[in-house]
Amino acid sequence: MRKSVVAIVGRPNVGKSTIFNRLVGERISIVEDVPGVTRDRIYAQAEWLTQEFNVIDTGGIEVGDEPLLVQMRHQAEVAIDEADVIIFLTDGREGITGADEEVTKLLYKSNKPIVLGVNKIDNPEMRENIYEYYSLGFGEPFPISGSHGLGLGDLLDEVVKHFPEKNNEEINEDTVYFSLIGRPNVGKSSLVNSIVNEERVIVSEIEGTTREATDTHLQKDNQDFVIIDTAGMRKRGKVYETTEKYSVLRALKAIERSDVVLVLIDAETGIIEQDKKIAGYAHDAGRSIVIVVNKWDTIKSSEKAMKEFETKIRNQFQFLDYAPIVFLSAKTKKRLHTLIPSIKIASENHAKRVPTNVLNDVIMDALAMNPTPTLKGKRLKVLYATQVAVKPPSFVVFVNDPELMHFSYRRFLENKIRDAFGFVGTPIKIFARQRQ
Ligand code: GDP
Ligand code: GDP
Repeated sequence: MRKSVVAIVGRPNVGKSTIFNRLVGERISIVEDVPGVTRDRIYAQAEWLTQEFNVIDTGGIEVGDEPLLVQMRHQAEVAIDEADVIIFLTDGREGITGADEEVTKLLYKSNKPIVLGVNKIDNPEMRENIYEYYSLGFGEPFPISGSHGLGLGDLLDEVVKHFPEKNNEEINEDTVYFSLIGRPNVGKSSLVNSIVNEERVIVSEIEGTTREATDTHLQKDNQDFVIIDTAGMRKRGKVYETTEKYSVLRALKAIERSDVVLVLIDAETGIIEQDKKIAGYAHDAGRSIVIVVNKWDTIKSSEKAMKEFETKIRNQFQFLDYAPIVFLSAKTKKRLHTLIPSIKIASENHAKRVPTNVLNDVIMDALAMNPTPTLKGKRLKVLYATQVAVKPPSFVVFVNDPELMHFSYRRFLENKIRDAFGFVGTPIKIFARQRQ
């Protein structure tokens, strides 16, 4: 199920990033007494009661050096486009300002539920400051204090009330959901068009099911696929879509709904730092990954050229050693037919379960081959292992002391599991748990 998304909107310095950090539960961005400080993260997971949702700090989206009012308009647009519920944040110490009224006007145009937070109400005496906020027309204002962590519970109770009943997507377990990520101009939209137009797929219009308007449903060889849209593909021509923060936000949103993520690399310009960052998001999210080297038509293609490019990728993306690499051209459709089979394999492995007895045979063979490490005279003992989850496949290894399970030994076990079961395309997770 797709998680609900909450966006925090408001003029600079009202406390958006303070509240974001509170909701996300870690101190992740630096809050300073300067409006518009750079924020590292603007999209993250939060939880209230039993509900998990994602939060956007729209204050982190800056469009070039546009004037304040233009920035605020873009931020409100992002919230309206991306969120299920909007928290409109104001500053209860300063009262309603012209900038608050500007934001109000923008939000009136949306039909998204809006919850009004009046921040910086640090003590009960200040509560009477909130009454003037009724005049904004968003109903009851919620007094909160981001820095003291007050009032957030009531605000969140109201926020979760507005979450869509059933988050407009019926996930079909047999359908493979995939998305394409990569820097601007790497060829994401071209590749989607090529798949849809050339790959002898049946593009379906499924009646009666509620779904994301921008998804593309298709079928090939009796397998259903859904291509999840990212901003790079949508091209609606909104100004904020060109900002890096927004494209990261869209990529994260798409990754979250995917079984398989295609990480696109431009053969013509080669690998750049941004590619690694983007690939890192998919890896961290535990999704299956296929690396797609696009624009292969611009390279004098040969086995040797492919080997060389592969070596470069393996060196630069060591954390993605499990991801298959597909070389193709979205433009000429050369080698395009190799893509869908790779996606299918990566998705099958993402959901694969292995029998416990075979798993333990593999682990015991591995132990016999490579003695377990010792720390301060104590030797790691591995008792048994079991697979506890899929998507991605996750294993618990019961040991005498988890501290003794070094990164390198964990890696060794991972490689043995991969050798035995061939989890091509998917990350796998190994947890060490204590058992005497
Ligand atoms: P943003 O620009 O809307 O993201 O605002 P920030 O989160 O960066 O906060 C702006 C300033 O307000 C910082 O100096 C914060 O420490 C301060 N601030 C945030 N929340 C509160 C609060 O609840 N009470 C008080 N007194 N100050 C706060
Ligand atoms: P996006 O921003 O990632 O969606 O990239 P686009 O699909 O808009 O492509 C950006 C540019 O790269 C366009 O000019 C495309 O024509 C070009 N392009 C895309 N795929 C290929 C390819 O396989 N070969 C070549 N030579 N150009 C391509």
